[in-house]
Amino acid sequence: MAIKGKVTFDIEMCKGCELCVDACPQKSVRLSPKLNAQGYHYAVQIQDNCTGCTNCALVCPDAVITVYRENRKKDRVPVARISGVTENITVTIDEPAAGKPAGAV
Ligand code: SF4
Ligand code: SF4
Repeated sequence: MAIKGKVTFDIEMCKGCELCVDACPQKSVRLSPKLNAQGYHYAVQIQDNCTGCTNCALVCPDAVITVYRENRKKDRVPVARISGVTENITVTIDEPAAGKPAGAV
């Protein structure tokens, strides 16, 4: 059974660059037709088929994406949270696919 994931976006910090849209192998992400307070179309998850691969969080230049991956107890736990792109970048991955680098599909 495929791993289930979920992503959340800090929509007010999103600049609408679409890098996460292009990086998502599941086509789970697109830009909202709505604008945030900065006047940008912000990223949203549009399908419940996220695998928690973390690609979107890794490419986001504004570090506004948190990825959650369901564990065996069916709780969704954060696996990638990137903060402070101009300061420290911390990425924590649990259970990376065997033989693949983190974020690989
Ligand atoms: S974690 Fe992977 S599958 Fe989920 S939205 Fe991000 S890029 Fe797509
Ligand atoms: S990569 Fe980051 S800044 Fe760019 S659209 Fe996606 S969430 Fe927004």
